[in-house]
Amino acid sequence: MTTVFPLFNRVALIGIGLIGSSLALAMKKHGLAGHIAVSTRRQETLDTAQGLNLGDSYSLVAADAVEDADLVVICTPMGAYETVAKSIAAALKPGAVVSDVGSVKTSAIRDLAPHLPAGVHLVPGHPVAGTEHSGPEAGYAELFPGHWTILTPSENTDEQAVAKVKALWEGCGSIVEVMSPGHHDRVLGITSHLPHLIAYTIVDTADQLEDDTKQEVIKFSASGFRDFTRIAASDPVMWRDVFLNNRDAVLEILGRFTEDLTAMQRAIRKGDAAMLIETFERTRAIRRSIIDAKQHIPDVKPDGED
Ligand code: NAP
Repeated sequence: MTTVFPLFNRVALIGIGLIGSSLALAMKKHGLAGHIAVSTRRQETLDTAQGLNLGDSYSLVAADAVEDADLVVICTPMGAYETVAKSIAAALKPGAVVSDVGSVKTSAIRDLAPHLPAGVHLVPGHPVAGTEHSGPEAGYAELFPGHWTILTPSENTDEQAVAKVKALWEGCGSIVEVMSPGHHDRVLGITSHLPHLIAYTIVDTADQLEDDTKQEVIKFSASGFRDFTRIAASDPVMWRDVFLNNRDAVLEILGRFTEDLTAMQRAIRKGDAAMLIETFERTRAIRRSIIDAKQHIPDVKPDGED
């Protein structure tokens, strides 16, 4: 495909939080969109987005923003997908591409596809990049470089639509991979969803300790706990939707994890030093392979904020 810039004449962003605003800034920086129409639910967020100059036009009505759009990217929490799809369906122009950034792909397709008119191409996406911050002020153009974006179109999706969405994310600096939605959800279940669940649980366990111990946890938090608190500060609504929408994959991996945790518990109780060493050596090797694959970039703002 010969790449012509801008890739899309009019892009509508429905939802302008961390991911929507980062995408807006990246598209502006790299000249990927001729016009960016921003839509969000609350006036306050819309005003903030306008103040930050994230788009070219602003509306509280999603259907107005998608009118004449060549690409619509849904950037809301996934619990809102069905309502958003229903509200924009009639206003989508024939041949438009609809995409999203949600962290679970089978449910994204389940909630979006039935409402889109024939002739509109659905190319679901997930930029595997983020921080624990939310809202339009949290975004920055450099969120995506070096990070994967996964696309999960169905086998009969228009090839050109997929190629253009791929080019958009590559233009933002992402490395793009196409896979099936089910595979995406199983892989992200272990690499992202389970770690978040563990972080939320550990921090909550610490929070329920008696008062004097709790104070000590905060005082000595540098020793590992601090990293968990950063992950556990992630947006509650977004993560509620991730767990409710990727229920099967998360429960399956959680079952395996619980078995492995019980095995570790037994090893500690029995003083099984060999088992502990053998496990820790294996996990250390995994860390090395992640560094070799250059996937150890911390998901934090470049200004050094934790
Ligand atoms: P965010 O910063 O909280 O922003 C959410 C946006 O969606 C806001 O514009 C908000 O509008 C709007 N919104 C919230 N609830 C809505 C509803 N019920 N109906 C319509 N609009 C609603 O969220 P985010 O972190 O950018 O996440 C957005 C999506 O990206 C999620 O689906 C998430 O799975 C995915 N994602 C997130 C990350 C991450 O690290 N955060 C990484 C990869 C993918 P108002 O402010 O006007 O209410």
